[in-house]
Amino acid sequence: MQPPIPDYLADILDHVRDDDGGQSADYIPELRDADPDRLALALCTTSGHVYSAGDGDVEFTIQSISKPFIYALALQELGADAVDEVVGLEPSGEAFNELSLDDNDNRPVNPMINAGAIAVNQLINGEDSSVDDRVEKIRDLLSRLAGRDLSIDEELCNSEILSADRNLSIAHMLRSHGIIHDEAHDAVLSYTRQCSILVTTRDLAVMSATLATGGVQPVTEERLLTSEVCRRTLAVMSSSGMYDGAGRWMAGVGIPAKSGVAGGLIGTLPGQLGIATFSPRLDSSGNSVRGVKIFERLSREMGLHLMAADHHSVPGVRSITRDGDSTVIRLQGTINFTAAENILHELGSHKLGGSELLLDVSRVTSFNRMGRRMVKEGL
Ligand code: GLU
Repeated sequence: MQPPIPDYLADILDHVRDDDGGQSADYIPELRDADPDRLALALCTTSGHVYSAGDGDVEFTIQSISKPFIYALALQELGADAVDEVVGLEPSGEAFNELSLDDNDNRPVNPMINAGAIAVNQLINGEDSSVDDRVEKIRDLLSRLAGRDLSIDEELCNSEILSADRNLSIAHMLRSHGIIHDEAHDAVLSYTRQCSILVTTRDLAVMSATLATGGVQPVTEERLLTSEVCRRTLAVMSSSGMYDGAGRWMAGVGIPAKSGVAGGLIGTLPGQLGIATFSPRLDSSGNSVRGVKIFERLSREMGLHLMAADHHSVPGVRSITRDGDSTVIRLQGTINFTAAENILHELGSHKLGGSELLLDVSRVTSFNRMGRRMVKEGL
């Protein structure tokens, strides 16, 4: 059977195709001259099924979408305490390239702004690492996340370096506060190479889905990150992923997300989906205009807003029947705290007879730790 999903995705692209609002990034020729009409949408489920429409296989530079993944790599390599020493967790409300640090402790406020991302980049592969070794480690992780060998757009990278005065000032500022130790030029080179890695919209959907599974790449099935690392990364994406548009984004779309200046945009639905779009024209916050529109529509039509309380959930107890001397309790659905509470409440009000109790969990889709513990202890 052919699932109707590709047609649905193509239909969504057709609805935004004629919108030419916004402007491509123009601070370097490579981004300014990129085809602004490119348009792509891809989804990857946590089971590893990938669907895409439009220019899903066209490569572009990952740019700031690398930030959450390299933050995850730092958390994985060094642990949260060491990472917290150089970067905070609070939304900044400022532009991505703001020259700002936290007034109290001089750390960049979060890892999604450039100051935070440059500080995090410097943590990879140890303080004494060469730029090449550090970037290779980064490229290796991003390649594993994508499930294919990714390359670096050297020309674009060189161009970025020639106009990197702002990021160089940030690196000098970080160095003067002892947050980074490398030469400012090397720190910016390492970060810019990270941003210049080439990906497709399909790659990004799979990478995003790896955060959704809690760290297992759903296509290759390789475990790349721990679930704690993914949870924290998604938390930072939800509060700071869309720069100074983060609050509006969470209210309207409600999906942890990250955008990049080349026009890419990812969103991650924990436990469900990785989503990615590509369209180069950006709004005043630096987010892809058509990408934002696509996400707004997907969120509304597919019911993806994380804060929505209108989920259809089945009661935890499907039936309670008597079979000879046994009472058979059939459970169903997802057994989390709320479902387990409901099950115990239901069992408490039921007169259970016979000498044996059988619990049938064949229709349970998943237990979380708390749900399992409550049902076990309750019994
Ligand atoms: N390389 C870009 C910069 O640091 C990335 C910015 C972005 O994608 O938002 O200026």
